[in-house]
Amino acid sequence: MKNYADISLTEYLKKYFGFSYFKGNQEVIIRSVLSGHDTFVLMPTGGGKSLCYQLPALIMEGTAIVISPLIALMKNQVDAMRGFTEEGVAHFLNSTLNKAQITRVREDVVRGHTKMLYVAPESLTKEENIQFLKQLKISFYAVDEAHCISEWGHDFRPEYRRIRSIITQIGASPIIALTATATPKVQHDIQKNLDMLAANVFKSSFNRSNLYYEVRPKINTMKEIIKFIRANEGKSGIIYCLSRRKVEEVAEVLKVNGIKSLAYHAGMDAITRSNNQDSFLMEDVDVIVATIAFGMGIDKPDVRFVIHYNIPKSLEGYYQETGRAGRDGGEGQCIMFYGYKDIQKLEKFMQGKPIAEQEITKQLLMEASAFAESSICRRKFLLHYFGEEYTTENCENCDNCLNPKIQFEGEEYIKTVLEAILAVKEKFKIDYIIQILMGVSNSAIRSYEHDELEIFGEGADESPRLWNSVIRKALVEELIDKEIENYGLLHLTEKGRQYLENPYKIMITMDRTYEDGDDDDSVQVNSAKNGEIACDEELLSMLKQECKSVAKKLNLPPFVIFQDPSLEDMAILYPITIDELKNCQGVGEGKAKKYGKPFVELIKAYVDEKEIVRPQDMIVKSVVNKSSNKVFIIQSIDKRIDFADICQARDIDMMSLLDEIESIVNSGSKLNIDYYINEVLDEEKRDDIFDFFRNEAELGTMDEAMEALGDDYEEEEIRLVRIKFMSEIAN
Ligand code: ADP
Ligand code: MG
Repeated sequence: MKNYADISLTEYLKKYFGFSYFKGNQEVIIRSVLSGHDTFVLMPTGGGKSLCYQLPALIMEGTAIVISPLIALMKNQVDAMRGFTEEGVAHFLNSTLNKAQITRVREDVVRGHTKMLYVAPESLTKEENIQFLKQLKISFYAVDEAHCISEWGHDFRPEYRRIRSIITQIGASPIIALTATATPKVQHDIQKNLDMLAANVFKSSFNRSNLYYEVRPKINTMKEIIKFIRANEGKSGIIYCLSRRKVEEVAEVLKVNGIKSLAYHAGMDAITRSNNQDSFLMEDVDVIVATIAFGMGIDKPDVRFVIHYNIPKSLEGYYQETGRAGRDGGEGQCIMFYGYKDIQKLEKFMQGKPIAEQEITKQLLMEASAFAESSICRRKFLLHYFGEEYTTENCENCDNCLNPKIQFEGEEYIKTVLEAILAVKEKFKIDYIIQILMGVSNSAIRSYEHDELEIFGEGADESPRLWNSVIRKALVEELIDKEIENYGLLHLTEKGRQYLENPYKIMITMDRTYEDGDDDDSVQVNSAKNGEIACDEELLSMLKQECKSVAKKLNLPPFVIFQDPSLEDMAILYPITIDELKNCQGVGEGKAKKYGKPFVELIKAYVDEKEIVRPQDMIVKSVVNKSSNKVFIIQSIDKRIDFADICQARDIDMMSLLDEIESIVNSGSKLNIDYYINEVLDEEKRDDIFDFFRNEAELGTMDEAMEALGDDYEEEEIRLVRIKFMSEIAN
């Protein structure tokens, strides 16, 4: 094998990539690959892992096989490479290629022209590909996103576990494995599975000092989010939600509150999804609301905040997702909303899965919740999780460091915990230890006769929460260790045993509690109506008066201008700008602009004169009773789908459909249903009904119309035209 020890790598770096300096430890990593050693790279996202195999591949003889999980990512990488080098130097092989393309790729490879061949793991396992690869001179194998090998990684893929045996079939060459997931467990799994336990391991620091971490209780979540975004106006941000439904819902609420946002999840069609992604990248929208499907391979450097609407499923996931903030080294605020209900929900999802998988999922989730509840420096906690010690006392960039909780001296408590763990022979989990300390006598404890231990009930004067904090502290101090592979059994470390002999003072903070509030199931909105706030009767009657006079001037019935619920909201919220006016029920964009001006002027004058203190609190506007039916109906009507088909698709009758449409229109949205009206009603009838609402109606109700129009018209016909009328004239 050729000796590359003396070459100047910086020259190649400049030549192929145009960079003048290596980032972090890229150079030593590349030298390790060039020397023919197995190499294992743990480097955070954005650290520059690709270059660690791309550069040696370009330098070395033969073709490097790059195994990467995502077709989309692969294509990006290859296109990026083509930008740097000539055509054909990098190729990819996956299921999206047709016969002719495959032939082309093979020709280039056989010619020795191709230095890098990207292969999806499922293509690698195909017999014909194995046969083909066998003929080649392979410089090395690169396994990117190598955490996919481990069940403990956040993105396990079973086909990744076959990589090693296939490499053996094709012909052994050195391996470089790369990942941004650095838990010791995942690291070990990868090395073991790829049979590279003796590899040179290069681990960069995972500290992202520019990221600010904060966890907030899940109370008034939507309102908090809107407040946050408004305070960070114009900045790019991502909001992660657990479910597609929640994604749609949150995006919708943001939109009606005037925040430029779009949704992104795997259930959307590919075109919409990629359009939405582009809008975010091009900054046509500020905020993208997404499931974790969003972000793989996204390289937007100036994402300024990442919000977790739900608890992430694992801390690796959390680290990856928050890692998309502040890639350029600038500001990156990471806010998580945390409540117990989310945990319960996730645990429910697990039911029915194989037990082993359940246990893993549960452990990962418990780590995430421990992080959320902890009062320890968030950075310290995260880095500890990745096996990295962070020694700075105060990171000054997380909620726990900036607003520390009161601490207490914990030496005695820690000793008690360590003794309890020893007393049960280091074979039990956190919950069990706490039960022992609290003196809980249940059947499990009795069956082990642990209720007879001296330590049993020793901590009953304190709360379980305190013991939880003490145990977490002991874990972070590495006095004890949790056997993840053994379902989280606790044992003492060497340091822990020494501590019992020579104890010292350790300060402990009480973990935070997030037991209160949890509003996940409804996007809580404080529309004035559902509070007990009384409306200003004097103002209300002035507004009603104004409504009549505006109507008169425009020669329209008053109900077209604003209906009572809208006026009542105005008399509670005192909106004095058109924007604020839109916060009132039934006031959409169109209505506010068309009719709002005299109303906000009146309210402004009234507020000034009476020196009224307007409600300081921000009002968040809800989406009209945001059922999924409504979204579907709006979309269907936009596409001019026949009403009968809409009914059928949603399994509702025509009257319920009209109810839904009315409520959409009443809330201030415009809907154009002409295509349907023209089909079922002749012009003359339509105009008659329309004229009635335009010129004769006083209340605008259905009852009034049916009474006046008599038997010549069906109820359905009147309703349809009334919808058209309200939509066109009122909104
Ligand atoms: P990772 O796979 O670790 O997330 P990438 O390989 O995608 O990271 O690289 C992240 C970014 O860093 C890319 O835009 C890449 O071009 C850039 N980069 C990599 N190495 C260097 C370097 N030595 N100098 C400047 N930029 C670099
Ligand atoms: Mg990468």
